[in-house]
Amino acid sequence: MKATCWHGKADVRVENVPDPKILNSRDCIVRITSTAICGSDLHLYDAYVPTMISGDILGHEFMGEVVEVGRDVKRLKVGDRVVVPFTISCGRCYFCEREEYSLCENTNPNAGMAETMFGHSPCGIYGYSHLTGGYAGGQAEYARVPFADIGPIKIESDLPDDKVLFLSDIFPTGWMAAENCNIQPGDTVAIWGCGPVGLFAMKSAWMLGAGRVIAIDRVPERLRKAREDCNAETIDYSQTSVLMALKEMTGGRGPDSCMDAVGMEAHGHGLVGIYDKLKQTMRLETERPIALREAIIACRNGGTVSVPGVYGGLADKIPVGAFMNKGLTFRTGQTHMQRYLRPLLERVQKGEIDPSFVITHHLPLDDAPRGYKMFRDKQDECIKVVLKP
Ligand SMILES: [Zn+2]
Ligand SMILES: [Zn+2]
Repeated sequence: MKATCWHGKADVRVENVPDPKILNSRDCIVRITSTAICGSDLHLYDAYVPTMISGDILGHEFMGEVVEVGRDVKRLKVGDRVVVPFTISCGRCYFCEREEYSLCENTNPNAGMAETMFGHSPCGIYGYSHLTGGYAGGQAEYARVPFADIGPIKIESDLPDDKVLFLSDIFPTGWMAAENCNIQPGDTVAIWGCGPVGLFAMKSAWMLGAGRVIAIDRVPERLRKAREDCNAETIDYSQTSVLMALKEMTGGRGPDSCMDAVGMEAHGHGLVGIYDKLKQTMRLETERPIALREAIIACRNGGTVSVPGVYGGLADKIPVGAFMNKGLTFRTGQTHMQRYLRPLLERVQKGEIDPSFVITHHLPLDDAPRGYKMFRDKQDECIKVVLKP
C-alpha cells in the first residue's frame, strides 16, 4: 500500500510499504477514505518530537471502511464505515473504566520510554513517535486498528467524510479544551491559536454557554476564520499587546478562562521569544511556551487555564508565581475521545455544527509532502488539509 512516511526534519515521502495485517484478535483493518494532517503532525515534521524512526507512517486523523476483523471483534463487521479516534484505548483498565481513555494503561507498548520522560505513560497514539507506542498512522491506504470495539465510531448516516472526519481528533479535542475551561453562562473565554483545534474550541465554547470568545493569532486568514466562522472578537498579537488588549476588553479583570491552543512551537516576540527560539534550536529546552505564559498572566484571578496545545518535555520561565498567587486552575490532557464521539456525532447529525468549515485543501495522498509544507508555511491560506488515498 501507499503510506506517508517520516524520514527526518521536513522530509516526508509517500512510499510503498507492506499492507497492515491483523496482529491481535481484537484488531480490525480499515481501508482509508479520508485522512487529515494535524497541527501536531507539524511538531513531527519539524523534528521536535523525539523517538521518531525513519520510515514511520504518519497520521492520526483518519476514517474509512472496515475490510477485515479479528476473531474477537464483536461490534464491527466488514463493510462498516468508521471514524477512528487518534488515541488507542483498551476499554477495560482502571483509567478506561473512569472514562479517562487517553490515560489507558494497556496500549503503549513503549510505556517505559514515556515513564522516563513523564513519570507515567499516556495511552498509545497512531503515527505519533515511539514514545506513544510506535503505531503505524493513517495517512495511508490502510491502517491496523487495535481494540476495534473500543475506538472506532460507526457512521450510519450518509454524512460525507468531510463532516465526520474531524471526530477523529480536532473536534473532540477543541470540545474537551472548552469543557476544561469550566465555562459558566456568559463567561469570557480567550483562546490563543486560531488553528483547527482553536477554531473548534471557539465553536464549542459558544455551545457550552460562553458570553464572549476572544481569539488571538497573527495569521490574517486564521483571524478572519475566527471572526467570520466562529463569531470571535480577535487580537492580532503582531500588532497589539495581547495582555493590554485583554485587560481593556474585560474592564481590567481579565478573561474568565484562557486557552493555549498553540503548544510547543509558538511564535515568540521580543526578548523572551528570541530566548525560547535559541534554546529550542540548541535543544536546551523542548518547548516555546509563549502562549502558555501569556494565558497564565492574562487570566483573571481564580480563573481557569486550559491547555489542548501539545507539549513534549520541559519549558522555561513558566510564571508559576502568577499561577499560584492568582489561584488559577490548570486543566489539560490528551483528549478522552470515546467520551465525546457519540454526543458530538449527534450534534453534527442535527446540523448544530458543520465541521467541514475548517477545510481549505483537499489533496490526493500522493501530494502529502506538498500538503505538509504548505500547512507548515501557511502558504495559500492553508488551515486544514484533507488527503484522499
Ligand atoms: Zn490531530
Ligand atoms: Zn485502558
